[in-house]
Amino acid sequence: MSINIPEEKNVLHNTVVSAGTLYLVATPIGNLADITQRAISVLEQVDLIAAEDTRHSQRLLGHLGIKAKLTAYHEHNEDRVTPRLLDELESGKTIAVISDAGTPLISDPGYRLVTQAHDRGIQVSPVPGVCAAIAALSVAGLATDSFTFEGFPPAKQGARVHFFEPLLDQQRTMVFYISCHRIVETLKDMRDIFGADRRVTYAREITKTFETIKRKTLSELIEWIEADDNQRKGEIVLVVDGAAVEQGDNQQVDQYLKVLLAELPVKQSVKLVVKMTGEHKNDVYKRALELKDA
Ligand code: SAM
Repeated sequence: MSINIPEEKNVLHNTVVSAGTLYLVATPIGNLADITQRAISVLEQVDLIAAEDTRHSQRLLGHLGIKAKLTAYHEHNEDRVTPRLLDELESGKTIAVISDAGTPLISDPGYRLVTQAHDRGIQVSPVPGVCAAIAALSVAGLATDSFTFEGFPPAKQGARVHFFEPLLDQQRTMVFYISCHRIVETLKDMRDIFGADRRVTYAREITKTFETIKRKTLSELIEWIEADDNQRKGEIVLVVDGAAVEQGDNQQVDQYLKVLLAELPVKQSVKLVVKMTGEHKNDVYKRALELKDA
């Protein structure tokens, strides 16, 4: 991994936008200071900014002192607006897509535009920054070597249960976006399917005044939220521990791990056990953490 560090101190690379390029620009999820210098530079220079909610984005741009041409781009007008934006890109215009908060396309509009841009040979470039899912994962204290992003569970209970059921055996850490209005019901469905003892990290109002990060079991978290109305307000990401590896398949892995963990760091022990057993690295890693915790 490397960063291009200029020779001169305190000098950042000045981004110059390229004609005909579609930029996907991440914006803050609460704390405005999380905007990147590149994001500001690109937003200042592009010919057009396609925003989910132009009034909302106008406030952000106003705060940054950016006078930009905004156009609305959201799930209700995507079909109509996408061809026009693609035509503008093909004529050499530069366009940035932003959403209300965080990284565009992550439970936000933009997918159609980006796929069709690729189909038409248009250059697409990310301007990375904050994403609530990744921010939550980084503080979750759950395995991060392998994870899945599950987005928003359905609002209706029946559909929600169908949504969670196939995830029962998912061994990877799972990240969900949850509406605060349904947090308790959603957690109860999760508890009924994944079990009361499944570990979960609740990340609310990340980067904002009332930021709350708690790792608990599902039953503890439900009890804690039910006792405090404030925990049912604001924006929430839930990070859920993956299913434990089946005990039966595990005996040999456990035996090797116990011996090796007594002598070596986790990473090295896992590497050797994977070599010896051919088991999947993520499973062995997860088991190693469980044994170490125990
Ligand atoms: N594209 C955004 C991103 O990169 O995170 C997500 C947009 S999605 C429509 C909005 C959901 O993201 C919220 O309902 C919540 O689950 C999560 N989210 C956004 N900002 C958050 C924050 N500051 N704290 C916790 N969750 C947040």
